[in-house]
Amino acid sequence: MPDHEEPSHDRLKQHFAQRVIHQARQVLETWQRMQRSEWSDNGMQELADATLLLHRYAERFEQAEHSQLAASIVRCLDAVASNRGRLNSGMISELNQLMQRLSRTGLRRGDHFEQTILPPLRKPVYLALQHVERAERLAHQLDYFGMSAQPLETANAFRAAMLERHPAAILMDVNFSGTGMGLALAEAVQQGLEDKIPLLFYSHDDTDTPTRLAAVRAGGQEFFTGTLDASSLLERIEVLTHVAQYDPYRVLIVDDSRAQATHTERVLNSAGIVTRTLTEPIEAMAELAEFQPDLIILDMYMPACSGTELAKVIRHNDRYVSVPIIYLSAEDDLDKQLDAMSEGGDDFLTKPIKPRHLIATVRNRAARARSLKARMVRDSLTGLYNHTHTLQLLEDARYRAQRDEQPLSFAMIDIDFFKKVNDNYGHPMGDRVIKSLALFLKQRLRKSDHIGRYGGEEFAVVMPNTDARTAAHVLDEIRRRFAEIHYPAQPQDLCCTFSCGIAELAGEMDGKTLSQQADQALYVAKNGGRNRVAVFA
Ligand code: GH3
Ligand code: MG
Ligand code: MG
Repeated sequence: MPDHEEPSHDRLKQHFAQRVIHQARQVLETWQRMQRSEWSDNGMQELADATLLLHRYAERFEQAEHSQLAASIVRCLDAVASNRGRLNSGMISELNQLMQRLSRTGLRRGDHFEQTILPPLRKPVYLALQHVERAERLAHQLDYFGMSAQPLETANAFRAAMLERHPAAILMDVNFSGTGMGLALAEAVQQGLEDKIPLLFYSHDDTDTPTRLAAVRAGGQEFFTGTLDASSLLERIEVLTHVAQYDPYRVLIVDDSRAQATHTERVLNSAGIVTRTLTEPIEAMAELAEFQPDLIILDMYMPACSGTELAKVIRHNDRYVSVPIIYLSAEDDLDKQLDAMSEGGDDFLTKPIKPRHLIATVRNRAARARSLKARMVRDSLTGLYNHTHTLQLLEDARYRAQRDEQPLSFAMIDIDFFKKVNDNYGHPMGDRVIKSLALFLKQRLRKSDHIGRYGGEEFAVVMPNTDARTAAHVLDEIRRRFAEIHYPAQPQDLCCTFSCGIAELAGEMDGKTLSQQADQALYVAKNGGRNRVAVFA
């Protein structure tokens, strides 16, 4: 092909790839909407239509991965249709997995059309700041966190960039290109856009209420003042551009009547809720550990043990104190219902129950339980897992690694000379460093790694399917990059480093030994001069 044809050919391909991406979003949005409402035949039909269209576009524009995923989704929906429109747990899980993969399609690295098909976060953030050097410094810092940012110098450059490509978010100085001009400029570019772009305002000086009000009216979702640091900016952008997580609720049903259980399963499955049924209450504890349900539905009367007895047993285990338990029974005696509730139940539903009522109750309870759990297991400063939960995750990962004969590494990270940070720059600055390391780890580690805040300035990472050598490689890269971050401060910017110790699971070793070995390796790293990664030997 002659040289001069290349660019237009590429442009054309990019243009069409965009159409595929757009259609993939349609599919994901339909799926997302279904998570919030009842799954009607209409919803399923809409999903099927959107997916067929995606498949057609992907084939035509030669997007192999999308085409393959769309085909799998269509197959899955066909299976539902030939099951007289009835979903089962297997289908829900499979659909969910396919949707998750679809939502990640853009993330592939090294793709020829990376620019075009990356999801919102990989697009750049436009930085329209009054001071160009500040914007450039910020862009440089954001780069460490794996986020690209584009500083723009003038209003015209900004407008041109907007015409060229929409960013993941806009950071606009209220005084960009003249006092108060930034506000109007941001408002103008948002106008007429169907999908608003996340907009964050910035003012170097503290501003008055009218300015803040104007910022809100211009569509601003955040207002920063003072020194801008990359990590708090990134944190906000993450929230604003958050790609939704798709994870169906899991419900464990314990009922000695197979017919009743099947009925309950059908109702819940029809709303996209994954279920598992036990007709033997004795098996409940093992199933709980394995299935990790968001909610449990218990039959009141079973031959081997009563629902209330089982609820007590479940509640005895610390791990399940907050899993909602709903009793399902023909019992209409109010006193007995109240008794049952006092035995660790959260709700009481009387048979026959309307499907809509059952679905709504389960969804509401499960949603609340999830958000409570998220708060219970997380550290409030960083949003990482807390100490207890990190150890719990290590335990689960150890069990799985030994069962599947896969490697597992555990890493402990401790910020170097952190006391000096607090002493010289103040406690709030110390907090900021902790938060930024947390974010840094989240950005740079895999989704399957569990990151915890182990203590004050100590972190721990559980890395499934990873040997110590690989873990050391990954964490050393993170260490190197983290050391390059500058935190704006007086009289001079602050830089921090960390030390890291890593241990790999061997044989029948328990979790405690593994964490002790990682701790010893950390000690070696500290002793060896800090700012380094050591592997237990
Ligand atoms: P080393 O290189 O040996 O790790 O030195 P270090 O100063 O980091 O070690 P040390 O563990 O003695 O000090 C940790 C300090 O971290 C002590 C404590 O005041 C501070 N710290 C712990 N938690 C927090 C927190 O949540 N916020 C802030 N700002 N400081 C914290
Ligand atoms: Mg320490
Ligand atoms: Mg320390």
